[in-house]
Order: sequence, then C-alpha cells, then structure tokens
Amino acid sequence: MADWSPTSWVNKPIKQDVVYEDAEGMKEALSKLQRLPPLVTTQEIVRLKESLRNVALGKAFVLQGGDCAELFDYCNQDMIEAKVKLLLQMSLVLIWGANKPVIRIARIAGQFAKPRSKPTEMVNGVELPAFRGDNINGYSADAESRRPDPSRLVSAYFHSAATLNWLRAALSSGLADLHSPLDWGLGHVRTPSIKEQYSRIVGAVKDALRFMATVGIDNDRGVETADVYTSHEGLSLDYEQCLTRELRHPVPTKATWTENYSATGFYATSAHFLWIGDRTRQIDGAHVEFFRGIQNPIGIKIGPSMASNELVALLDVVNPAREVGKVTLISRYGAAKVAEFLPGHIAAVQASGHIPVWQCDPMHGNTQSTPSGVKTRHFEDILSELKQALEIHRAAGSFLGGMHLELTGEAVTECVGGAAGLTEDGLMERYTTFCDPRLNEKQALELAFLVASFYRE
Ligand code: PEP
Ligand code: MN
Repeated sequence: MADWSPTSWVNKPIKQDVVYEDAEGMKEALSKLQRLPPLVTTQEIVRLKESLRNVALGKAFVLQGGDCAELFDYCNQDMIEAKVKLLLQMSLVLIWGANKPVIRIARIAGQFAKPRSKPTEMVNGVELPAFRGDNINGYSADAESRRPDPSRLVSAYFHSAATLNWLRAALSSGLADLHSPLDWGLGHVRTPSIKEQYSRIVGAVKDALRFMATVGIDNDRGVETADVYTSHEGLSLDYEQCLTRELRHPVPTKATWTENYSATGFYATSAHFLWIGDRTRQIDGAHVEFFRGIQNPIGIKIGPSMASNELVALLDVVNPAREVGKVTLISRYGAAKVAEFLPGHIAAVQASGHIPVWQCDPMHGNTQSTPSGVKTRHFEDILSELKQALEIHRAAGSFLGGMHLELTGEAVTECVGGAAGLTEDGLMERYTTFCDPRLNEKQALELAFLVASFYRE
C-alpha cells in the first residue's frame, strides 16, 4: 500500500494520546518490542478473516467477550480458564440456537489500554491522572504510579504472551473437550418457568453431544479442541506499530485471493483481531491511519455520534478492496437509541455495497450510575438492545452476525438484573472491575440462552 507504513500514523492528529516524559525509556521499550517475536501467526489471522467472511454472509455467528480492562494480575491459570470455559459454554448454546458455527474471539491477552472520557479522576478526594490501563500507568492512587511508564508496554507483551501460552496449552490439552462434563449449574435461577426453559436447552445441547458420540462424528479433533482467537482495542499505536510486521501471506485461498494479491503484507501480530474504539475512529485521525494498512480483520465501534455518510467513508478508507467480512461494525447505541440509529446505518452500508460483519455490543450504550455513583448496567437493557438489533437487522434484510460482551468467569456483582435478581444494593458485594461493569458467569450464560432462543423464534 503506497504512502502507508506502521508509523505513518504519527503524522496524523491523535486522540487519547499518551505523553511519555521518559524519552530514553520509551526508545528502549519500543526497540525491545520490535525485536520480540509475533504473538500470533499470519495463518491464524487469515483463518479468522475467512471465518468472519462467513459471518458477514450469514453463515456463522461470532461471539466476542472478555474483560473491559485486563490487568496484569489477571494473567493466572484460574482466571484464564474461567473466561475461556465461559465463552465455550456460551458458544455451545449459541450453536444450538443459531444453528450455525460460532467463531469465538476473546478480549484477552492484550486488552490492557483504556480510552478515558476525562484525563483526570477524583480518587478519595484527590485529583489524579486517570488510570489508562495496566500497559500505560498503575491503578494505585498516587501521582507516581499514574505517570505513564514505557516499561509497562514491554510488560504488556510478556503478560499477553504468558496468557496466550496458557490459552493455547489448555485448549490443546482438552480444556474445550466436549467429552468432559460441562458445568451447566442453574441453581441460581429462581423463576421456575425460566429454569424450565434453560433446562430444556441444556437437555437439547447434551442430547446433541450424545448423538455425536453415538454416531462417531466426535472422533476427529473437532470436539476435543476449539479455536479461540484473541483481540483487544488497538489504542496504543506505539505498541501496535512495533508488533506490526511485513510478512509473507499464507498460501492464498479462494476467499483471500484478490487481483492485487502480493507476496507480503503488514500484519498486526499482537492479536488476531483489533478494533478501533468509539473515541478514536476519526476518519483523518491516527488510529484510522494505522488500521487501514493492516491485513487483520478489524472492528470499528459505532455509536449515536456516527453519521451514516461518515460510516461509509470510513469503510472506504479501511477497506478499499471491499473484502467481505474484513470489517466488523460493532454497534453500541444503547437500548433507548438503537431503533433510532441502527436502521440508517444498515441502509447506508447496504447502499454502499460493503459487506461487513454486524456485531452488537449491548454494553457500552447502557452504562449508568446508581444514585451512590456506582457504574452499572441493567441486564434487561443489555438484552433489549440485542433483541432490537436482531429484529432491526431481520427487517432490513440484513444479518446480526454476533455479539460483543464484557464478561468474566468470576462471580462478580457488577451488572444488575438477570435470573439471580441482583439489585443495586447488592452491587458492592463483589465489584472488582477496574473499568466497566461486566456480566458474571451466570448472567453471561443466561444471555446466551436468551439470544439462542431469539434465533430459534
Ligand atoms: C470498550 O470496548 O471497552 C470501549 C471502551 O468501548 P467503546 O469504544 O465502544 O466506548
Ligand atoms: Mn468497556
């Protein structure tokens, strides 16, 4: 691509910029990162891109989920496994519901950097620079820890590598094996009718697994392991540029072969999938400049502030070759606004001829604060935005290809509602997020059940 390089973004205006005072430390960190090996391979990236092509064409579904902000401390066996198991369990329910293969992408192994709405925040009555994510500064409430530290970029690489290593090892050693009993515990579900509905779905999924075992179609690698791809917001371009490498394309397949196929391309190797946040998607900004040059499948968050003509112009910039499914549009309007904005966005994209993956993020448009100032989200709003998005796509002859969630395998109390009936009063019991409120494992599984039943309708 002419006039593009992994560093061409530096000439563009940038939002959410981080100013590092330690210039020498920054130079060292970037030079170290440039020499470290890629975290993912071109084969894996292209395989995901081909799968997302199928999602765009309505032949598969994509489930993306994980923490709002990962911390370096989350890099431990229990938390990695809990998150991955939850995604696998949800995807089984969705496969049953949508009757389509489900592509799993975790917000893991690099989801550290966070965009912030304000540069400072009040902590215990003191105004401090905002916490920008573990790869930028420290969470502890003192000015020294809040100073951007370039060595954290290198730490981010090693924590991503260790997380990814365990993810790969656990998957290839049977973590995703459908033969091992899954914990479908529904003990928390209080309403008898909901309990009965979920038990029926669990029964149907178990029957399908038993059937596969009986007829012997579970002998291949297919049911013993599963693909789980990694993703994060590509916010720190300093970091991303160092891990963006010019690499040979894997042998082109029918889906990826294009007229202008060239022997090499630039791959962001920090994760399989990167997305641009809602705050950094300015068409002439630094993030769009960086993203337009990479081969990976990419996401763009879109909310109420996105104009339809701007959306199409943005697609033209990041995907001039109009590869089907190269771009995932991650819509996040909020339950009260989705009906106002989504139809116009779908119509504009349809008229443009672009064929993206449409994914609904029902989290970020539905954040609210309780009277005592705790950030939360209502399960009912999350569900409502998803359901409306699904119906709007159907009515438009379009296809809602997936959902993007903030969730955790831990039993946190951050979002209210759901079958366990969590109320605002119970929020502080286990409120451990460092950024946005996440669905706990029961709420996430419940959401999967409900979405699966929408697809069955
Ligand atoms: C996020 O996904 O955590 C996020 C910050 O989202 P958005 O860019 O949509 O606000
Ligand atoms: Mn978030």
